[in-house]
Amino acid sequence: MKRYFAIALLGVGCIYAATSLFSHRFYDNTHQGRVKKDPLINLENALDKENVVDIAIIGSGPAGLMASVYGCRAGRQVICFEGAEPGGLLTKTTLVENWPGEKSILGPDIIKNMHLQAEELGAHFIHDTVIKTDFSQYPYRLETEDGLVVHALSVIVTTGAKPKTLGIPGENTFWGKGVTTCAVCDAPFYKNKDVVVIGGGDSAVEEAIQLTPYARSITLMVRGSAMRAAVTMQQRLAQYSNIFVRYNVSLQEIVGDTAGVTGILVRDNQTGNVTQERIDGVFLAIGHEPNVWMLDNQLTLCDTGHIALCGRTQQTSVPGVFAAGDVSDNEYRQAGVAAGDGIKAALDADRFLMHHGYSQVYAQQIDEVRFYPPIKAGEELVQSLETIEAFNALVSPESGLVLLDFYATYCSICMQTLPLFEWVANRYRDVLTVYSVDFERAEPLATHLGVQKVPTLLIFKDGQLIEKIVSPMSRAELTALVERYR
Ligand code: NDP
Repeated sequence: MKRYFAIALLGVGCIYAATSLFSHRFYDNTHQGRVKKDPLINLENALDKENVVDIAIIGSGPAGLMASVYGCRAGRQVICFEGAEPGGLLTKTTLVENWPGEKSILGPDIIKNMHLQAEELGAHFIHDTVIKTDFSQYPYRLETEDGLVVHALSVIVTTGAKPKTLGIPGENTFWGKGVTTCAVCDAPFYKNKDVVVIGGGDSAVEEAIQLTPYARSITLMVRGSAMRAAVTMQQRLAQYSNIFVRYNVSLQEIVGDTAGVTGILVRDNQTGNVTQERIDGVFLAIGHEPNVWMLDNQLTLCDTGHIALCGRTQQTSVPGVFAAGDVSDNEYRQAGVAAGDGIKAALDADRFLMHHGYSQVYAQQIDEVRFYPPIKAGEELVQSLETIEAFNALVSPESGLVLLDFYATYCSICMQTLPLFEWVANRYRDVLTVYSVDFERAEPLATHLGVQKVPTLLIFKDGQLIEKIVSPMSRAELTALVERYR
C-alpha cells in the first residue's frame, strides 16, 4: 500500500514539475509534442507587419542547417541567420570519423555540403547575427546586429555553445598572445614551441593532434586521474611521439611578458604543490557553454544553462520557439545528434504552423509582407551587364532607379554580397533595377564609368549618376539607400 502511495506521489510530483517548468503557453507533453492551440498565437497578426518569415533559424551549425533543409522541404520559407561564425564549431575541427555514412570527413566539408543542400532547397542565409529576441509579441520579433528586424511565425534556436575559459590570472592578459581555444586556427603560430592543452575530453585530444605537425611538445593537462575522451580518441594519442599526458594537474596562472606567454603555474592536485613551468602557448579545451545571451531570459533553461525542452520534442517554454543542437543538449553534444535535433525542430515548427492555421491561402496572403518575397522559377532579378552599348541602352532617362554592382570573382567580399543584391532587387522589384557587372569582363565599361576598384556600387536615377559607393554595404545600408532615392 505504502509503495502504491509513494508511486502515486511521485507521479503527481512529476506532473507538477513538468507544468511548473513549462508554465505558460506550452505544448502538451503527454501528446508526444502535438500542439495545443494557443489563443495568443494568431497568424493574422503578421498581415500588418513587415519582414515576415515562416521559420527563422538562429545559427548555422549542423542543427541549423538540417532545420533549414527540413523547413524548406515542408514548403516553408526559411531564413537562417548564420551568426558571426557561420557553420559553428564543426568548421574548427578537422577529421570527423563518426558522421553518419562517412568513414572520415573534414568538419568544414560536412558544413559545406549541408549548406549547399539547404540553399538548393531554397533556404536563405543571412550573414548577420541576431542580437535581440522578443517573444512577448506575436509574430516574434528578431533584431540583428545590422539593424534588420524580422517578424517570425516560428523560431528555431540553434546557437550552439562557446568554449569555456578558466578564469585564472593571466588568461585575459595573454588572450590571443599565447592563450587560445582554437588549434585549427592558431597551430601554425607554434612551430617548434612547447605548448599545453588543458582538458581531457574529445576536444582536448583533437586540439593536441592538430598541434602535432607544428609544436615541439604538446602536453595534455588533465585535472583528474582519467581522461573523459572516448577510448578511440585516447588511442589515437599514442601515434604521436610529441604528445604527453599529465594527470592530476591544474593551471593556476598564466605568466608572460610583452611578447606573450612565457610560462604557467601548475598545481599538483594530489600534493597541492604549485610549480612554475616554462611554456610558449596554452590551448584551452575544457568544454563549452550554451550561447543563450540573445534570448534575454525569455526561455526556461536547465540548471546547466542549456535551453529546456519538452519531452521528446524540440519545443521550448514558448510556443512556436524551438531549440536544437548544443544550445539545448548537455548530454550528447555530437554533430550527428545536433543534425537530428535540427530535423525534429523543423518538423515541430511546421506542425506548429499548420496547427495554428498556416495554409496555402495564408502563405499567399503574407507574400506581400515577407522578408524575402519568393522568387518565381526562371526569374532573374539581377542581370549581368558587360558593354558600354548595353549600358547606354538600359540606363536612360526612362529607366528610373538603377544599381550597378561592380564585382570580381577573386573578391570574396563581392561574392558574399551578391545575394544581397538579389534580395534588394526582389524586395524593391517595382521601383528598382539591379545589374551586376563582372569587372574582369567589363573593363571598358568600368573605365567609361570611372570605376577603379571592386566592390563599387553606382546608383543612377533616370540615367543620371547620383551616388558612387566604394565599400561593401550592409543590408540595412542598402535598404536605406533605396528608400532615400526611390
Ligand atoms: P567535455 O565536457 O567532454 O570535456 C571537458 C574536459 O575539460 C573534461 O576533461 C573536463 O574535466 C575538463 N575541464 C572542465 N573544466 C576544467 C577546468 N576548470 N580545468 C581543467 N579541466 C577542466 O568537452 P569537449 O569540448 O571535449 O567535448 C564536448 C562534446 O563534443 C563531447 O560530447 C565530445 O564527445 C564532443 N566532441 C566530439 C568530437 C569528435 O567526435 N570528433 C571532437 C570534439 C568534441 P573532467 O573530466 O574532470 O570534468
